[in-house]
Amino acid sequence: MSVHAGRPPAPEALPIPVVDNHTHLDMARDGEEAPDIPAVIEAATAVGVPRMVQIGCDLPGARLTVEMIDRYAALLGGVALHPNEAPRLHDRGELAQARAEIEQLAAHPRVRVIGETGLDYFRTATEGVAAQQDSFRWHIDLAKRTGKVLQIHDRDAHEDILRILAEEGAPPQTVLHCFSGDIAMARECVERGYFLSFAGTVTFKNAAGLRNALAVTPLANLLVETDAPYLTPAPHRGAPNAPYLIPLTVRAMAAVLSTDVPSLCTALAANSELLYGPW
Ligand SMILES: [Zn+2]
Repeated sequence: MSVHAGRPPAPEALPIPVVDNHTHLDMARDGEEAPDIPAVIEAATAVGVPRMVQIGCDLPGARLTVEMIDRYAALLGGVALHPNEAPRLHDRGELAQARAEIEQLAAHPRVRVIGETGLDYFRTATEGVAAQQDSFRWHIDLAKRTGKVLQIHDRDAHEDILRILAEEGAPPQTVLHCFSGDIAMARECVERGYFLSFAGTVTFKNAAGLRNALAVTPLANLLVETDAPYLTPAPHRGAPNAPYLIPLTVRAMAAVLSTDVPSLCTALAANSELLYGPW
């Protein structure tokens, strides 16, 4: 069945199945309907994306994420307070309680990710920075205490992300979701053993710097994601995104890396299993 009337057509299926490392099946863009999750999973599976990591960004999203992973075997979960959410909770005096609940939800065996956390200097004005940094440090500690993978949101905050990770000591498994750095940052992350997760942004015309960063990243450090419903890959930029569009991003990545699609898929699948284990 077609999932999205009027949405981009399904791309050619990948030869080897990969994992969508970061998606928001609980979210819809303004004015759009919430995704029909079984249909989303079916469409993704049909093109070689049978598994995805569902990320809940605030308390309602984290609660929904746990419900979703209980219901759908294709999903693993991630829970956290997004860097734009933490300052709001802090200002309302609700932070301690929210943290306690995130910690409780994170105990679920199929919540394998603490994230997305990190820093967003694009959206949150100066007064939110201290609360963001404090929240980021707390999530780093939570990932270490629970032995789960840390997924980081980094918007216009590269230096502080790297500095705080170094200060706190990064968890053994650390992922920069929707990687947006340059060559130097990619090299620094690889040297530290972090994983770089590339989204549809790598297909954008104006993203030459990002493609240069991808080109110097070894296969062993790579992941792929949609960050759906946002960041739809070319040539469908602007349309709603969903996990079934990942093959467009994977093929673009293979071209940048001068590697064949099956080799890239094999590496992406192995890296995901290494981080999250089987499911
Ligand atoms: Zn996200």
